[in-house]
Amino acid sequence: MALKLYCTNCNYQFVPKTEKTPNRCPYCDKLGTIEKANQMQDLIDEVSRETVEKEEREKY
Ligand SMILES: [Zn+2]
Repeated sequence: MALKLYCTNCNYQFVPKTEKTPNRCPYCDKLGTIEKANQMQDLIDEVSRETVEKEEREKY
């Protein structure tokens, strides 16, 4: 899986050309806003799974 990064300031997503994570957003040029997008997706998957479990429990 390619490492995907995103900017927390402007939500611009990109795949870095080198292995080194840039500390500056190539789109809005802000410093220190770059996060790994894949980790973010894992977090979203986990939250949505918990939501489904909760909804099923509330049926009974
Ligand atoms: Zn940005």
